[in-house]
Amino acid sequence: MAKEIPYKIYLDEKDIPSAWYNMRADMKNKPAPLLNPGTGQPMTAQELSGVFCEELVKQELDETSRYIDIPQDIRDFYKMYRPSPLVRAYCLEKKLDTPAKIYYKFEGNNTSGSHKLNSAIAQAYYAKKQGLKGVTTETGAGQWGTALSMACAYFDLDCKVYMVKVSYEQKPFRREVMRTYGAQVTPSPSDTTEVGKKILAAHPGTTGSLGCAISEAVEVAVTNEGYRYVLGSVLNQVLLHQSVIGLEAKTAFDKIGVKPDVIIGCAGGGSNLGGLIAPFMGEKLRGEADYRIIAVEPASCPSFTRGTYAYDFCDTGMICPLAKMYTLGSDFIPAPNHAGGLRFHGMSSTLSQLYHDGYMEATTAVQTDVFEAAEYFARVEGILPAPESSHAIKVAIDEAKKCKETGEEKTILFGLTGTGYFDLVAYEKYNNGEMDDYIPTDAELAESIAKLPKVN
Ligand SMILES: *Cc1c(COP(=O)(O)O)cnc(C)c1O
Repeated sequence: MAKEIPYKIYLDEKDIPSAWYNMRADMKNKPAPLLNPGTGQPMTAQELSGVFCEELVKQELDETSRYIDIPQDIRDFYKMYRPSPLVRAYCLEKKLDTPAKIYYKFEGNNTSGSHKLNSAIAQAYYAKKQGLKGVTTETGAGQWGTALSMACAYFDLDCKVYMVKVSYEQKPFRREVMRTYGAQVTPSPSDTTEVGKKILAAHPGTTGSLGCAISEAVEVAVTNEGYRYVLGSVLNQVLLHQSVIGLEAKTAFDKIGVKPDVIIGCAGGGSNLGGLIAPFMGEKLRGEADYRIIAVEPASCPSFTRGTYAYDFCDTGMICPLAKMYTLGSDFIPAPNHAGGLRFHGMSSTLSQLYHDGYMEATTAVQTDVFEAAEYFARVEGILPAPESSHAIKVAIDEAKKCKETGEEKTILFGLTGTGYFDLVAYEKYNNGEMDDYIPTDAELAESIAKLPKVN
């Protein structure tokens, strides 16, 4: 008889990783470098350090160090909300009547409500260490801005957040959490930047976009002494910091002597998925073990499954470096979708390379199916999931149902990236039957993909 596995696999404080794991060190085909949009040449450390903190630039460009030590100050902060729980979803398994064994790693156990705090605190730490006054960023749905506000408050840094105007107006509570932690929140586009003024002149009354907020935040960072820009996803450094999720999950599984067969995560810019899979992908890359890895994206913003693998801008203002990634084109504006964190047009270049090389799969889910899965999960496991996370829930449930048909006792791990308390308007729409499932047509995608920058 196997030993009974507890509902929660607890770790100790000492199990918080002391180093982040850098997947790139084990990749034979490294992710393509960021390019300078002006010259078409790889961005140098010097060029990048005008926008980003020095230590973070080093991490961004480091593709050889397998492990990078986590500074003690960051580990001390992690101790306030980590290790995060790895939960055996016994109630969900029972309800589904499946032989599958389902586990989830829950990252919603902090006030910001998502995994984004894992990288926010690291980025704030390096900004402080460099002696900067503050950082600037953009936020769409608000999770990243909230996480960064908390991190900046901890290190006494100034935090300027450009929040997409429509979210600023529709999500006053998110905005207020950020202000409570001391951040200055500006609706974007605004008249506080040149790029904002230009956009306002060209499109009076616009409600803004993530790409436009990025352009404003970058402008403020490069034109103000003592400020740098920080980004909450997509970049290599963010995936690196998020590896704490996977490292802890691996430690917990090792403790109970279990190995997952399938690992599932939602994919917006790729940071939670990249973090969750990191040590498992490392084993896969080194040929030590095999795992099935599935990225889940919204059918309304299908970068992996319907995008093109090419160099593209990360912002609509076209001022950021070019990244090679699966992209729908920086011009692509997804239909209103309630998983705000999954609306980015591109994808992490590390995950793009791994997907391109066949190390992982990708699939899509439509919105109403995602909310159906979210409510099913909430009612049996208790946690109110974020709409983003619910993409992973949906596919985990599908996989568990397949196991019921085939009788296979697969072990499934999925990332539960956050809670949905600030998404109740979306839940309301779903409960009222007013949610739609817009899927872009091939013609729409072709239009934005035709505008990809020409680089060879
Ligand atoms: C931002 C966010 C995501 C998506 O971002 P990734 O970088 O792809 O991880 C997923 N879940 C939650 C709760 C988020 O806040």
